[in-house]
Amino acid sequence: MAPAELKPANPNIKILNKPLPKCDRGASSGPPKSLSFHRLRKAVHVVCVIAFFSLPFANLVRFDIPRQRFYFFGYELWISEFSIIFFSMMFLMFVIAAMAMLYGRVYCGYLCPQMIFSEASIALESKITRTVNKYVRWSAARRKVLSKAAFYFIAGACSVVLAFGFISYFVEPHDLFHRLLSLDMKTTAGFAGAVTTLLTLLDFLFLRQRFCTTVCPYGYLQGMLGDGNTLIVHYRDENRDCIECKKCVRVCHMGIDIRTSPYQIECIHCGECIDACADVLARLGKQTLIHYAWGEKGELLGSGDKSWYARFGLRDAKRVAVLLLILAYGSGLFAALSMRRAVLVRIAPDRTTMYRLGKDGTVYNRFRVQMANRGSTQATVVLSMEGLPGATFSDFENAVVVDAGQSLQRTFEISAPRDSSLEPGVNHFRLGSRVGNDQDWFDETFITPMKDETKE
Ligand code: SF4
Ligand code: SF4
Repeated sequence: MAPAELKPANPNIKILNKPLPKCDRGASSGPPKSLSFHRLRKAVHVVCVIAFFSLPFANLVRFDIPRQRFYFFGYELWISEFSIIFFSMMFLMFVIAAMAMLYGRVYCGYLCPQMIFSEASIALESKITRTVNKYVRWSAARRKVLSKAAFYFIAGACSVVLAFGFISYFVEPHDLFHRLLSLDMKTTAGFAGAVTTLLTLLDFLFLRQRFCTTVCPYGYLQGMLGDGNTLIVHYRDENRDCIECKKCVRVCHMGIDIRTSPYQIECIHCGECIDACADVLARLGKQTLIHYAWGEKGELLGSGDKSWYARFGLRDAKRVAVLLLILAYGSGLFAALSMRRAVLVRIAPDRTTMYRLGKDGTVYNRFRVQMANRGSTQATVVLSMEGLPGATFSDFENAVVVDAGQSLQRTFEISAPRDSSLEPGVNHFRLGSRVGNDQDWFDETFITPMKDETKE
């Protein structure tokens, strides 16, 4: 079948029906090979895949649902510390939102796991088809069936691995591995793993980039966050150099023509069309017509005489304010994490009875101490008291050993002799807890009988 005739958008351009000369980048004014956004993306994708699997395995980011722990870059947060967990998650969301304002959909094009694995799926299918067509001498129909079967099989295996990586963010990886080996479908983790595997496979086979334009809200959110200074992919052809080769359209995974508008919801700002145009026009000694630019009317990325901070996207007061806000937020979060105590101690009175009187008239008050060791080493909690003359801990070893990850509760009594100088009624004092060099004090009350009660 004869190829469809190309029609130039610019009537002054005549399309030549002969192949373009071979690209000689060294002699052209096109971008050097080192500026290939495709290669940059693939390098970033490799780093992202390594990070995707490493983060839960190294406990850098992991929400352990069965144990109710949140691991965040070396910190093991308990569910009782929900405020820190919440602010940590908000910080990550805030960074992504700020990135969208400055750099457009760079997250979608370079960092999003959905996009990375969708592109990998397309590349895998294409590679398998080419390999089968090259080496298998069967009819076209049988080769197609073989290619599909091989692709489905490999995609199925990859889905299991990816689902395992994803569920590892919520269930301890070794535990999950054993569940996988025993094909566990009864527990929640096993069932969630099976469902995730199925969804991943369906995504690989059918959904792919359609997810970005149908399900994912981030593209629409980006439209609200961006403004005239946000980094976009922009087609500029003041000299009418476009030769209508449509290579920029053919390479686009999202199936759009960037020349119609830089604000299409499908565009993920990946830059593949920039490379494509650069490659074609370099053969004619011209520069690419598609660029990363700071807004529709702004400078091209990496050009102009503006200061270094403008070249990094800090092009107005709003962006500087957002950066300062992120720095302040990040510093506050870091300070909160640094000040966090590994061992949490809470002491409260047990007022099921106000006090207890011994046969010799000694007054007893009961207290409850709760200890949670959120650190990775064993800790000893030592209790002390001040402001209660003559009082002692009664039958209580006031040095309690708490293992790493352990929560303990103890009740103990404080006794004061009949002839102590305590006031009848309520006496205020402090109970202390010391773990290593960390000392905490708790304001407490000790209740003694009123005078007439003692006489009884
Ligand atoms: S138009 Fe260009 S930048 Fe946008 S998604 Fe397609 S290839 Fe990527
Ligand atoms: S690749 Fe460049 S020259 Fe070819 S159609 Fe796209 S913008 Fe025009």
